[in-house]
Amino acid sequence: TLPNLPLFHALQNHDPSAVAVVHSASSRTFTYGNLLADVLRAKEQLAETTKGGRHALAGERVGFLAENSYDYVVTLLSILASDAIALPLSPSFPVHELKYIMDNAQAKVLLATEKYQDKAFDVVKTGLETEPIVDIKEKIQAGSSDAGPVTFEDAVGGSSQGGLMLYTSGTTNRPKGVLLPQSALTAQASSLLRAWKYTPKDHLLHLLPLHHIHGTVNAIVTPVLAGASVEFMFPFNTDAVWNRLAAPFLSNVEPPKTPKPKISFLTAVPTIYNRLLSSFPNLSAEVQAAAKQGISPQNLRLNISGSAALPTPTKQAWKDLSNGNVLLERYGMTEVGMAISCGLDVADRVDGSVGWPLPSVEARLVDMETNAVILPGEERDPTTGREREGEIQLRGPTIFSKYWGNEAATAEAFVDGDDGKGPWFRTGDVSTRRVVPGAGKGTSGDWAQGSMYFIQGRRSVDIIKTGGEKVSALEVERELLSLPQIAEVAVVGLPSEQWGQKVAAIIVLKSDALGRNGKPWGPMDMRRALKDRLAGYKIPQEVKILQTPIPRNAMGKVNKKTLVQEVFPMLT
Ligand code: ATP
Ligand code: MG
Repeated sequence: TLPNLPLFHALQNHDPSAVAVVHSASSRTFTYGNLLADVLRAKEQLAETTKGGRHALAGERVGFLAENSYDYVVTLLSILASDAIALPLSPSFPVHELKYIMDNAQAKVLLATEKYQDKAFDVVKTGLETEPIVDIKEKIQAGSSDAGPVTFEDAVGGSSQGGLMLYTSGTTNRPKGVLLPQSALTAQASSLLRAWKYTPKDHLLHLLPLHHIHGTVNAIVTPVLAGASVEFMFPFNTDAVWNRLAAPFLSNVEPPKTPKPKISFLTAVPTIYNRLLSSFPNLSAEVQAAAKQGISPQNLRLNISGSAALPTPTKQAWKDLSNGNVLLERYGMTEVGMAISCGLDVADRVDGSVGWPLPSVEARLVDMETNAVILPGEERDPTTGREREGEIQLRGPTIFSKYWGNEAATAEAFVDGDDGKGPWFRTGDVSTRRVVPGAGKGTSGDWAQGSMYFIQGRRSVDIIKTGGEKVSALEVERELLSLPQIAEVAVVGLPSEQWGQKVAAIIVLKSDALGRNGKPWGPMDMRRALKDRLAGYKIPQEVKILQTPIPRNAMGKVNKKTLVQEVFPMLT
């Protein structure tokens, strides 16, 4: 039996011969028939392992360590099918971090694929607070073909105790366990399905870890709901990805036994697009030509960027290389899934904007000083003429239910609306909002209308208060990145006796960066270049040029607090 949920009805209804997952290295394919049979088998195995009855796992956390593969998909879905809470663990985490998560989540079961057996046992050996039932899959039995008769539990979807528990990226603090009930997962996937229109013809390539919301919802749950097929390539390797994108268009190679399907849907983060762009010139002429075809709008229907602000030069360079493919930027977080997105219509992919609240997501901007809601039409301060910044607050069926084991953080995260329609989640992210001429005509869907959101950064680190003025680190970063000499930048606030805080820039230069008169590029060049583009108080007073890349986590995010401590140890 399967739970009476849209995801499992979809799984059972898809054409069993349609491809669900492609194993990237071998091109081996797994069909929806395989997937359904394997999910049912894995669910039974899980019930046997835990020696419980049918509902022994309901609401329990089941941790798992798996490579980005078909097995990952089977494991995730079988946990959801058991009415349990799937707790994806990152195999790249050190043992003590995994122990923290297992303990924090009070997980009852730990599953691991063969590759991560040892790691799983190492985690158990640390002496977990709740001794988990450890189940190691001896052998991958993937590819069962007959699911036999499938029945559905009578209970209607709402009663499910299953769901997903993910840990935040830990950019601002220790990762928090976010509980997403099954209903939120279903709402997130249905919302994305409507906005990005996944179809059974789509073949999605995902280049990131899977233990984040992006991997789980955008690259597994939604494609499965839609009957699309997916392929994972991780860890990220530029040449391998270019070769993969090029493969279906290389004419002079012997046809491989299993031809690789073309990629129609690519999900990644800005750092990955940057790395792909800078490695492109090193490819052979043949691969370059084929890869360009692979990423052209005719073949790659959708290329998505998110998790961190997309620099406009990156977007432009990708567009130039791909013969006109415009990256679609979206904004999301562990607590809510994808929340705000640009639209499918190219006119709705506006530079610097993350778009409109997705279907079933309600969003508002709240003034951080007065706590007043900034209503449509009030986005500009009538006296100064400047755009008003506000914290993004969200509500709707896609939102998480709580931070696991952290009532204080949960209570702090929500504020009540005064309309009696339930509390709003405070994202901690700051944005402006405006109507963009030519965009938001509704051609991307009825949700993509009205004013668009422009993220200004995190309230805690990106809004710098200097001499009574507020500066968005993201705005300054955008301007700096538009200079031809700059490869990477992080703008931060440093303590200042005179100003409260002062704006500082940590910069990585391009290898050929030169300033005036052929001298090395430096702070004076920066000031000269920004003079006409930014108000004086926004121009960094302190500049540090790094010789190595800015440290980022697996999602391409910069932890600014630790970066500041490393770069300016004397000042913090
Ligand atoms: P932690 O909450 O532990 O500090 P985190 O917030 O980085 O970590 P995630 O939930 O993975 O963990 O990331 C969500 C955050 O990523 C958002 O709150 C926002 O700050 C940032 N973000 C996501 N998409 C975008 C985007 N398109 N532009 C700018 N920032 C983005
Ligand atoms: Mg966060």
